[in-house]
Amino acid sequence: MKVFITWAFAIALLSLVLFSTSAAPPTTPFPEFCGTMHYWERTPEGAAFKARMDLTGACPTNGPCDASGTRDGKIPSSATPFKIIPVRFQIFANNDGSNVAGTSTEISNQMALLNLDYASSRIYFVYTARTNNSTLYRNCPSNSEPAMMAAFAESPASQINVFVTAYAAFNNCGIATFPWQNSSLTSTGGMMLQDFSMAPARFGATGSFIECFSHEMGHMLGLWHTFRGVTEVAGLSPPALCCRR
Ligand SMILES: [Zn+2]
Repeated sequence: MKVFITWAFAIALLSLVLFSTSAAPPTTPFPEFCGTMHYWERTPEGAAFKARMDLTGACPTNGPCDASGTRDGKIPSSATPFKIIPVRFQIFANNDGSNVAGTSTEISNQMALLNLDYASSRIYFVYTARTNNSTLYRNCPSNSEPAMMAAFAESPASQINVFVTAYAAFNNCGIATFPWQNSSLTSTGGMMLQDFSMAPARFGATGSFIECFSHEMGHMLGLWHTFRGVTEVAGLSPPALCCRR
C-alpha cells in the first residue's frame, strides 16, 4: 500500500481538478471487496470507459493524470511539503443514538492507519466527525445512497465526506468517488464506508477490511483499483494488476 501510493501523489493532486458525470446507484451486489470500479462503470462516463476496456482488452488512459510522464514528474521526496487534506466523517446511528457506526476511538484508529499509509506520499489527513441519528440510513436502503449523501454532506468542495453506515445495496467494504467524476466535489460525492470497515472487530468482519479506508482514499485521490501502472515505476512491486482488479 505504502509503495503504491508514493507515485500516486501526483495523480492525487492533478485529479483534484475534476470533470465528468453523475453517479448512478448500483443495482446488484458487487463480488469484489471494493465496489468503486463497478459503481463508476454504472455512470455514463464509466460505461464508456468500460466499453473501451472491453474492446481493447487493456486499461485505457483517462485524462492527463493518467500519463506516466506527468505522474513520475510529481513523485514526492522526503523534502516535499505535506499536502493536508480534510476529512469529514458522517457517522450514522439509529434515531435514539444507538448502534453507532463508529466510535471516536475507532475513527481515531482508522485515521492513524491512514496517515501511516500515506506518509511516504507526503499526504496528511486531518478530520472532524459528527453523528447523524437516522435509523433509515443506519442500514442504507438499496439505491438510496445518493439521497443519503445529498442530505448529510457538508462542504463537499473542500473536504472529503466519509459516510459510515451499513449499505444494503452492496456487500463490499466501501465505494469511493473517483476525482474525475462530476459528482466528486458535490453533495453526492465522497466515500461510502461500511461499518465493518470502520470497526472490523465490533461488526464481525475479518482483518482484511482493516485497510479498506486507506484503499478507498486512494480512489478518492485518483488511484485505480488496484493501482494500475505500478510496474512502470522503477523498483516497485508486485506486478501491476489490471485496473478492474
Ligand atoms: Zn478499489
